[in-house]
Amino acid sequence: RAKKEGRGIYRIYSPEMGSTMRRYHYLLEEMRVALDTNCFFLSFQPIIHVDGSAISYFEALVRWQHPAEGTIAPTEFIPIAEDSNLILKLGDWILEEACRQMAAWYNAGMSKTRISVNLSGIQLKHRRIHEWVMECLDKMSLPANSLMLEITESCFIDISDSIIDELNKLRAEGVIIAIDDFGTGFSSLSVLANLPVDVLKIDKLFISEATKNKKYHKILHSIAELSTRLDLKVVAEGIEEIEQLELLKSLGVVYIQGYLVSRPESSANVGSRVLKQSANHLSQTGTGVWPP
Ligand code: C2E
Ligand code: MG
Ligand code: MG
Ligand code: MG
Repeated sequence: RAKKEGRGIYRIYSPEMGSTMRRYHYLLEEMRVALDTNCFFLSFQPIIHVDGSAISYFEALVRWQHPAEGTIAPTEFIPIAEDSNLILKLGDWILEEACRQMAAWYNAGMSKTRISVNLSGIQLKHRRIHEWVMECLDKMSLPANSLMLEITESCFIDISDSIIDELNKLRAEGVIIAIDDFGTGFSSLSVLANLPVDVLKIDKLFISEATKNKKYHKILHSIAELSTRLDLKVVAEGIEEIEQLELLKSLGVVYIQGYLVSRPESSANVGSRVLKQSANHLSQTGTGVWPP
């Protein structure tokens, strides 16, 4: 018997896998319950411009608050949700919750804030993505340009023309489309020319390796250069150290995200920090990394 292990890797069943299988089926059953009992919540992590001048995005990252297991990470449950198509129901909730939060921030005067939401390939295939997103934005009275959608690079490999169409319709409305985890999905570089994207998020692997390994450094440099030539905005994810920040700045990468800036945090914390920041902005200039 074969079991799917996350992203398309299959293994023949072996006895040691019994507990993994049990955990998998346990979480699958628990997830159905969790979806009906409001057990998911969103954390928000800022994506900022290094000179603090431009719009900050907040990436919505889903967590599962399990009554017995505590908080379960998306790396564990998203693949299970994708296998079972529960990702559709969960994904509907995530988009709506993220937009509801964005609308609340917007109404609280956080006008330089935008929201970024991760999409799964399953959602691209099974939802009429243009209609689905626009309906949600309408419902929350949000302008289309307050939303960015993150799609993992590997989803683009065998993307259909009709999905590309849907994404282009969204871009025409003003929704921003980002390739997530860029550099890990093995897509051919020539594909970049035709992808319906505005933003490229460089995978954190390149960031963590680039200060230690010359080859990663060179690849990072090339990605930054290529993006500029293709008029794509670049976000570097997973910045943990000042040294990494300095390197990216020297390569011309201006949008950054990572523990150095902020960990993902609750909406309440985000709200109070951003409001404090905009208050500070009035009285001082040239702030560096946010929050200071
Ligand atoms: P991702 O979209 O690439 O999100 C970035 C992940 O890196 C997040 O993990 C974030 O907490 C983590 N991260 C951010 N800064 C740093 C850093 O400086 N160092 C390190 N080591 N990690 C950092 P998280 O929240 O556990 O999410 C993992 C993955 O799960 C996400 O990767 C995304 O693929 C998926 N995911 C999370 N939320 C959602 C969602 O709402 N929908 C879908 N479809 N997938 C989601
Ligand atoms: Mg992401
Ligand atoms: Mg992702
Ligand atoms: Mg990523």
